[in-house]
Amino acid sequence: MTKHDLTRREMLAIGTGAVGASMLGASVGYAADAKVPKKRLGKTGVDVPILAMGMAMKFHPRFDPRLAEAVRLGVTYFDTGYVYAGGTVESAVGSFHTRARNRKELFLSGKTERHAPAQLEKDLKDGLRKARTDHFDLYMLHGLGDPKTLNAEMAKLVERLKKEGKIAHFGFSCHDGNVPELLELAAKTPWVEVVQFRYNFRQYGDKKLNAAIDAAAKANVGLVAMKTQGSEASFSDAWKKYEKTGKWDKFQAVMKAVWADERITSIVSHMDTFEKVKANAAAAMSRGEMGSADWESLDKYAKATRHLACDGCDHHCRAAIDRPVQIGTAMRLLMYHDAYGETAKAKALFDGLDADTRALASVDFSGCRDACPHGVDVAHHMTRAKDLFLS
Ligand code: SF4
Repeated sequence: MTKHDLTRREMLAIGTGAVGASMLGASVGYAADAKVPKKRLGKTGVDVPILAMGMAMKFHPRFDPRLAEAVRLGVTYFDTGYVYAGGTVESAVGSFHTRARNRKELFLSGKTERHAPAQLEKDLKDGLRKARTDHFDLYMLHGLGDPKTLNAEMAKLVERLKKEGKIAHFGFSCHDGNVPELLELAAKTPWVEVVQFRYNFRQYGDKKLNAAIDAAAKANVGLVAMKTQGSEASFSDAWKKYEKTGKWDKFQAVMKAVWADERITSIVSHMDTFEKVKANAAAAMSRGEMGSADWESLDKYAKATRHLACDGCDHHCRAAIDRPVQIGTAMRLLMYHDAYGETAKAKALFDGLDADTRALASVDFSGCRDACPHGVDVAHHMTRAKDLFLS
């Protein structure tokens, strides 16, 4: 066992005892009336399911049966976004809950990437209309990067929107290189109630991130993890031999590892099939912890694929190029294409990036692999980005 293993295990206070015989695996079921358990979402005071439905995908415009199955299993936290699936997701949810008559059962989260207060309010208003509801249970700044956005003007807007009953709680999502700084800021900002951030098994040893998560948890900020699979879906050849860990399949194992972190309330998961909804719900319902075989397999997998997964920390690799290309963002958009097949969305988002990033064809990325702490082959991926986004 390596030092890294011990640190991670100590940090997460994971027991290494034998796994109970009732532990669920990939193919097992659950009692007919079983529901995903709930946990308090920080200072919101609301108990939400520990598994949330990631909504960045196309749904049936009238009634999507995957949502019905999710609700049946207790996955009543829907994480929507203004731009998701070409702006169709809020309408799909509105239609779903109207037909299912279950709006009150849902914890409906909304968000917009447009953070100027007037624009945010417009997107919120549109979102409420499309989602056929008078309020979002949580509204977030989507993909916050600039900490200055959390200013007095935003605080005033949030206060007013709450008074008007349009939002119940407020927060932000983030996934770029400054996630730790933003978590620290959230800890000092009383009106930020929830942070949804990129967090996966590869990051357990990251001291800076852990200190920031600690600060946010201490300030009772509700913490929601996303992108818990660690981008490995982009690299199917690499992960195939680790598909099964000990008792869990790899997809379940990486989520169990995040749930083992008591600071995290819920995981937003992209579940585009019935099978994924069922398998993830089964993992969430099981009381079984990760056993030593699971941790060892996950650890081996993390090490073997470390150079294939990007954390978005592009202040490192950008130091090796002479134009400020947003490498981390370009890598994330590639992941939308690779992992989710959302090529049109990735292209549209890429088109909205700054001129330096869109000019990536003329940049020499050959020094980036050495500048990346994980040895990611940036030049290879930027060539892929060029072929995909600029053709
Ligand atoms: S390529 Fe490496 S340094 Fe650059 S953002 Fe990704 S993980 Fe960070």
